[in-house]
Amino acid sequence: MADPEGRTLGDEEVAALERVIRSGMLNSVWGTEGRALEREMAELYGSRHAIACSSGTAALHLSVVAAAPDPGDEIITTPITDFGTVAPILAQNAVPVFADVDPADGNLDPGAVARLIGPRTRAIMAVHLFGAPARVDELRALADEHGLTLIEDCAQAWLTELPDDPGLPGEPVLAGHPGLVGRSGGGRLAGTVGQVGTFSLQQWKHITCGDGGLVITQDDAMAHRMRLFSDKGWDRAAGRSHASLGLNYRMTELQAAVARAQLAKLPGVLEARRRTAVRLIAALEGVPGIRLPRPEGHAWWLFPLVLPDGKASALAEHLRAAGIPARAGYLGEPLNRAPVWNGPIYGSSPYPLEGYAPDACPEAERLVAETLLVIDWNEHYTDEHVELVAERVRDWS
Ligand SMILES: *Cc1c(COP(=O)(O)O)cnc(C)c1O
Repeated sequence: MADPEGRTLGDEEVAALERVIRSGMLNSVWGTEGRALEREMAELYGSRHAIACSSGTAALHLSVVAAAPDPGDEIITTPITDFGTVAPILAQNAVPVFADVDPADGNLDPGAVARLIGPRTRAIMAVHLFGAPARVDELRALADEHGLTLIEDCAQAWLTELPDDPGLPGEPVLAGHPGLVGRSGGGRLAGTVGQVGTFSLQQWKHITCGDGGLVITQDDAMAHRMRLFSDKGWDRAAGRSHASLGLNYRMTELQAAVARAQLAKLPGVLEARRRTAVRLIAALEGVPGIRLPRPEGHAWWLFPLVLPDGKASALAEHLRAAGIPARAGYLGEPLNRAPVWNGPIYGSSPYPLEGYAPDACPEAERLVAETLLVIDWNEHYTDEHVELVAERVRDWS
C-alpha cells in the first residue's frame, strides 16, 4: 500500500524549526514555543492547565506524581498498553495492579477494576486503546467513590470523543470545530474526565515531533506538582531553590514548534482517518467470523478487528501477503505476563514488589494470543486502500 508511514509533515514544520533556530533560543525555559504549545493545547481541550514534556512516558510519570502515591501504594491499570503506561508506576515505587479488559475492544472492564480496589489503591490509569473511548465515566465514578485519582492515557486517542452524558464530568468543548466528524454528540473529549489526561507526540502517534508529551488537568495543585517535577523541582520564581524531587522532562523549543504546527493539523488528520475507517466498517458489515470496532468517538490510531474464533494470526498473514500492514495481537504478551516481573527491577532490592506476581487477565491474554488483529491506519489512506483491505478480508473469510 502506498504511503504506509502516513506522517503529515511539510513546510509548516520546516518554517517552525527555522523560526526557532534563527531565534537562537532552543530551550523552553527561556523560549516562547513551549509555553505557546501549552496554551494552544489547553484551549483545544478546554483545560485550565497543559504542560509540555519530553515524551508520552514522561507525561505519564507526571500523572503518577500528580496522584502522589506513597511507596507501595497500588495503581490499577490495563495489561494491553505500551510499557510507557506502567514504567512510571514503578519509577514512583508504586505497585501496578492489572485489571482485565472488555473482549470487545481491549479497554479496561470497570467491573474488573472495581474488584481490585483495596486499601492501598491510589489511582486508576485507563488507556483509550487504539483510539476507542474507554469507559472513563464509570471509572471516574468508581474513583470518586473511593477517593482515587483517575488518569487517562490518551497517547493513542487524540480527539477521541466520549458518549454524550451531560450529567457527567468532562469538558463540553469544540462545538462546531471543523474536522470533528461522526461526533458522538456531547463533544466531550477523552482526557477531560480524569483528573489528568496524558498525550504522546512520538513518531507513530496521530501527530508527532519525534518524541514529546503533554498533560492536561483542571487541578491547580496537581498542575503545580507536575510542572515542578518536569523541571528538577525548581520553582523558577523562587530563585535557585529546589522545592521537591524532580527530573528534567522539559520539551525543547524545536520539539514544541513542530508540535504546534502538528496540533494545527490535528482536526484534519482525525477527519481523514475517520472517513476511511467508517468506510471500511461499512464495507465489512456482515462478514462472518469478524467483530467490527464501534465507530462512535473512535480516533483510529490503528484499525482493530476481533476474531472470536481465534484466527487473528491467519488473517494477519493473509493481509500481509497482499501488502496490508496487519499484525496479530498488538503485543508479544500482555503486560501482566511481561518478563520484567521476573526481576530484579531496583538493583537487588525487591521493595516494594516483595512476592509480587501479577494476576491473570484471561480476556486480555486471549485477545493478544488469539483474537485481536490490528491494521496500521493513517490519514493518507484512500478509498482504494479501503477497498483493497475489504476485498482481502472478504476473500479470506
Ligand atoms: C506511545 C504510548 C505511550 C508512551 O509514549 P512515548 O511518547 O512513546 O513515551 C504510552 N501509552 C500508550 C498507550 C502509548 O501508545
